[in-house]
Amino acid sequence: MEKLLRNFFLFLSKSKFLTKLAKKYGLRFGASRFVAGETMEQAVKTIKELNKKRLSVTVDYLGEFVDNEKEANEIADQCILAIDAIAKENLDAQISLKMTSMGLDISNEVVMNNMQRILERAKENHVFVTIDMEDYSRCEKTLEIFKQLKEKYDNVGTVLQAYLYRTEQDLRDLSKYNPNLRLVKGAYKESPEVAYPAKNDVDENYKKLIKLHLDNGHYTAVATHDDAIINYTKEIVDKFHIPREQFEFQMLYGIRPEKQLDLVREGYKMRVYVPYGTDWYGYFMRRLAERPANVAFVLKGIFKK
Ligand SMILES: Cc1cc2nc3c(=O)[nH]c(=O)nc-3n(C[C@H](O)[C@H](O)[C@H](O)COP(=O)(O)OP(=O)(O)OC[C@H]3O[C@@H](n4cnc5c(N)ncnc54)[C@H](O)[C@@H]3O)c2cc1C
Repeated sequence: MEKLLRNFFLFLSKSKFLTKLAKKYGLRFGASRFVAGETMEQAVKTIKELNKKRLSVTVDYLGEFVDNEKEANEIADQCILAIDAIAKENLDAQISLKMTSMGLDISNEVVMNNMQRILERAKENHVFVTIDMEDYSRCEKTLEIFKQLKEKYDNVGTVLQAYLYRTEQDLRDLSKYNPNLRLVKGAYKESPEVAYPAKNDVDENYKKLIKLHLDNGHYTAVATHDDAIINYTKEIVDKFHIPREQFEFQMLYGIRPEKQLDLVREGYKMRVYVPYGTDWYGYFMRRLAERPANVAFVLKGIFKK
């Protein structure tokens, strides 16, 4: 049943029709539990509240699978506004973005132009930018773009997904770039030809990747809500004397807020991924796919006036 629900929500997450409808009707159905608002002003308010609690942030102007240049350029403009707001308000925040929102599906030229504009502004303002990882069909291209950008910019990192068979090799290949990587389990529906179907295998691969990346001396963001993975990370950083400046934990806004604060109290760096914007639908559906308990919460939201 859980698997069925997961596939159902991942299927819904790809609907262009529902994405458009959701944009038109605004944040609904409990989406505001996971999305900080539709405007940068609302996001800034949330970031300030999180920073007050000593939680760092990475902020994401929502948008994905963009298929026209005008929209991709507009999303890049929004990212630049977010960088300006971070600098102006002196926020403890970075930004995250998706290659398909920068124009990956349009042309290499569009995506590179947008990324260079963003990274220049981010560099001027000492803001770090993480390129989120999307579905498998975009993985190779995303890594190629990351490598090209990393030759020129130090303030860019990306994400690797533990559910993909290819990831260990990608991590080894990227090592020469001294990359700052966020490691995650992976959020998209992938075929067993490219991704481990069993949760156990994903978890084991995740642990292996965390250890490998830390061992190689690179900055590692462990982005998970899973206690087993968090505890494993704590154990190996102690065992191998990994300095606290070399890693951090990350979680999504609205998920396990108490655990986030516990980690801060224990002296770990904890970063919250804060999405905002009108294009919240796909992101929200993936969160529902991850945890059926969230669906009950949403149903309550629908029937509550
Ligand atoms: C900061 C961040 C950035 C991300 N970026 C990307 C990206 O670029 N690309 C990508 O594909 N994916 C990304 N993801 C999503 C990621 O791939 C997973 O889909 C998502 O994090 C769920 O996996 P999990 O590691 O939390 O563990 P899961 O296997 O989903 O959960 C494991 C356990 O965590 C606990 N848990 C989970 N949720 C809750 C909850 N709501 N309340 C209480 N306990 C809970 C439960 O004990 C659960 O059994 C990102 C995730 C984070 C946190």
